[in-house]
Amino acid sequence: MSTGLTASFVRRFPNGPEIRVDSLRAAADSGVTVLFGPSGAGKTTILRCLAGLDWPGEGSIKFDGQTWFDPARKKFLPAQSRQVGFVPQDYALFPHLTVAANIAYGLRGRPMAERRARVVELTGWLGLGGLEHRRPGELSGGQQQRVALARAVARNPRLLLLDEPLSALDAPTRQRLRDELRRWLAELAVPALLVTHDRADALALGDRVVVVNAGRIEQTGVVEEVFNRPANLAVAHVVGAETVLPARVVGVADGLATVLVNETRLTALAGDLSDGAEAVHVCIRAEDVILVREAPSQTSARNRLPARVVSVQREGPLMRVELDCGFSLKALLTPQAAAEMNLRPGAMVMALIKAPQVHLICRSKPSSA
Ligand code: ADP
Ligand code: MG
Repeated sequence: MSTGLTASFVRRFPNGPEIRVDSLRAAADSGVTVLFGPSGAGKTTILRCLAGLDWPGEGSIKFDGQTWFDPARKKFLPAQSRQVGFVPQDYALFPHLTVAANIAYGLRGRPMAERRARVVELTGWLGLGGLEHRRPGELSGGQQQRVALARAVARNPRLLLLDEPLSALDAPTRQRLRDELRRWLAELAVPALLVTHDRADALALGDRVVVVNAGRIEQTGVVEEVFNRPANLAVAHVVGAETVLPARVVGVADGLATVLVNETRLTALAGDLSDGAEAVHVCIRAEDVILVREAPSQTSARNRLPARVVSVQREGPLMRVELDCGFSLKALLTPQAAAEMNLRPGAMVMALIKAPQVHLICRSKPSSA
């Protein structure tokens, strides 16, 4: 039976940080697992250790019952025997080799006819037909990425590792290739670990996410669940929750908690609270805040907060609005909505937030929870 990847290890860099991986798993049918975290968190180190390109000091890495790494039992399976496909961040294509030769490099040692046939198959699949004789310097960033992917999957790997595969691309190409990459990864049906620090990548590509921060795995789960309900403050910051503020629980009834942020009352679901918790952080995503000019007579939103607009700034395709509603609250909306509401500093609006969107993190909770 296929059990996929199970890994727990520690990589200590002399005079550098310690990267500790506690129980990283990717089942054979787990799809794409995103390793998400800020620069320097340890994501590349984790991929390199899994690929057999770097050596942890202790721990174990297993795949489908086969031990890849276990120094206590003196086991170390070299990279080329792990059947892992690796797409490094800079693609690492050979600049002097053609597209066809770069892809065929992944098949070295195999008969020439088999290599040729596989190159034809892969260039066709990835839309690289006609580019076989170009060198990497004569390709766009997106084409280079596809060559790197073709080389990595040429030998039908059991596990695919991709290090920030979209980070080198400009924004429009990135958007298009994100959709294509999702389709290719689904067609491959090989468990994949994909590193990114981009929320949109994680949401579009990941079936599950592993949040890595400061050399630790902080939280693992379904992407939306982890992004909407970070388990601790570190994860809330890593996943970019825009409003994170200390608050006090002043009442719990009928599954709802009332909390005070400064003097402003908010209603949240009590399910996030451990028994008797009083000191919490409230965590509200900017896209979950709805702005209206006047309070609707009927709304399902439990929180209706009169708010003064502090600033309105363009952020990519959206507008970021900072509000004062007794505490600082951030909202994201479309430029059209901002224009229709004539949002400008000083304007008074109503901020609507549903109770499930006010996420509570207990302040006493240890950060490794
Ligand atoms: P990420 O990919 O998440 O940006 P890395 O895995 O590249 O992070 O690096 C994690 C940490 O380990 C960083 O602080 C980095 O400086 C350090 N590091 C990585 N490689 C080495 C090395 N060979 N020697 C010393 N420190 C290293
Ligand atoms: Mg990296």
